[in-house]
Amino acid sequence: MLTIGIDVGGTKVLGVAVDSLEPAAVRAERRVPTPEGGAGLVRALGELAAALASDAGSAAAIGVGVPGLVDRAGTLHVGPHLRHITDLPLAAQLAEETGLPAVVDNDANCHAVAEQQGGAAQGASEALVVTLGTGIGAGIITGGALLHGANGFAGEPGHMIVDPNGPPCPCGKRGCWERFASGTGLGRLARDAAHGGRLDAAVALSGGDPDAIRGEHVTAAARLGDAAALGLVDELARWIALGLANLANILDPAVIVIGGGLVEAADLLLPPVREHFAALVMAGERRPPLPIVPARLGEHAGAIGAALLAAGPDQWVLR
Ligand SMILES: [Zn+2]
Repeated sequence: MLTIGIDVGGTKVLGVAVDSLEPAAVRAERRVPTPEGGAGLVRALGELAAALASDAGSAAAIGVGVPGLVDRAGTLHVGPHLRHITDLPLAAQLAEETGLPAVVDNDANCHAVAEQQGGAAQGASEALVVTLGTGIGAGIITGGALLHGANGFAGEPGHMIVDPNGPPCPCGKRGCWERFASGTGLGRLARDAAHGGRLDAAVALSGGDPDAIRGEHVTAAARLGDAAALGLVDELARWIALGLANLANILDPAVIVIGGGLVEAADLLLPPVREHFAALVMAGERRPPLPIVPARLGEHAGAIGAALLAAGPDQWVLR
């Protein structure tokens, strides 16, 4: 069955057409900039769906992943990266716009569906998929289905408060996990270190300006063996592991899959994450090994997962 999956990001929208029998096979893909406002978004998604159908053939359903809190009827309540959009009944309006059955879910939930069907968590009935990008998203698979919670809002560990006196978060609180353990967190740790004169090799790679330093300058310097940069990567890894250990204590997954932009540094980052995790999780030495592995489906994961969700939404409802 051919279904359309769309991943709405803060700046761009990626759409794919996927055959649900071959979850990792993308038949067509298109990208458009993220429009402003709810009406603009519905119109853009409708046009994207029509274009994908003309590329790949008519589709049976459409699924959309959005960054934010989505209820079980497919209404987007709020998305920190989608300005001017609140309480948008996206699934209902998209079904009307396209004439197709429409499913809307949180973008990280869509990532989790894709990785569970055709990626690094394939076949796992208990899995945690965490995306480390600008912020942190997560999809929790339990009993072979998605954990949605009472309202559909479950799986937002990026806003677990890990330091009540920590830096402010766009969500309005302080010290959320994503302030420390995301790409943004790495950038902040790096700027603090650079201003303290502790990160010279990475600063040189950024052109000499401590304020211009970004995560990739740190990982590049770390790859060259720079001790200060390696120390910062270790600090980031500890923050990542701290959140993962808290989540593992609650959820006891069989596998943790790490996706998002930071996964490009998985070779550098995951070994220290695994070490810190083993020390931080409850009774680490007494538990069976818990694999912490990089995502396999890359930037298409969210859109593929949205398409797979649309192909069989009932399959993902926890009973
Ligand atoms: Zn927050």
